[in-house]
Amino acid sequence: MEAREVLVAAAHKLVELGINPGMSGNLSLRTEEGMLITPSAIAYDEMTPEQIPLMPFGGQYGHYIGPKRPSSEWRFHVDIMDARPEVGAIVHTHSPYATALSMARREIPACHYMIARFGGAPIRVAGYALFGTAELSDQVVAALRGRTACLIANHGFVTTGATLDDALLAAVELEALAKQYVISLSLGGPALLSEREVAAAVRQFATAYTKN
Ligand SMILES: [Zn+2]
Repeated sequence: MEAREVLVAAAHKLVELGINPGMSGNLSLRTEEGMLITPSAIAYDEMTPEQIPLMPFGGQYGHYIGPKRPSSEWRFHVDIMDARPEVGAIVHTHSPYATALSMARREIPACHYMIARFGGAPIRVAGYALFGTAELSDQVVAALRGRTACLIANHGFVTTGATLDDALLAAVELEALAKQYVISLSLGGPALLSEREVAAAVRQFATAYTKN
């Protein structure tokens, strides 16, 4: 499949997964020429590969090629790809449970070993800034340090991956983790894993991925 088709297919999948209310989310994919990103103000079920803008690497900041404007959140997509060469794809949505935690500005602690698949604990909350701004992008890049996901205060979350499938799976798993954490809070809060236990889980994930 051509890269633009991969991105559109992933956008459709995000809708099917039910973790992207309305038109809130956006996705990006690294290619040799630059970053492909979902366009602004187009419903995912009406999106076609020809509409996907390309933002060339090394070009003028914000420059894009294509008939439609990039998502208003293009800055943090570009800045994450710039800061994190291992990131091949990014998913951003306003899914219910992760967003509820972001509204409470509550990071996700070591409440489950799955936190290790995001690089460790906690999953931070990027500070609030107006959507689409450079200030927000700076906050997101900082909150992602050493992690493959972060929440964004009063907004939603971001997951990254080597591929779009990776980033999508991470989005599903982050929303699940957020939901489990919220439910555990209603039971008086989770017992937390120790740093050593989280570190062991991080190593176990690394081994599992190497074996595959
Ligand atoms: Zn958003």
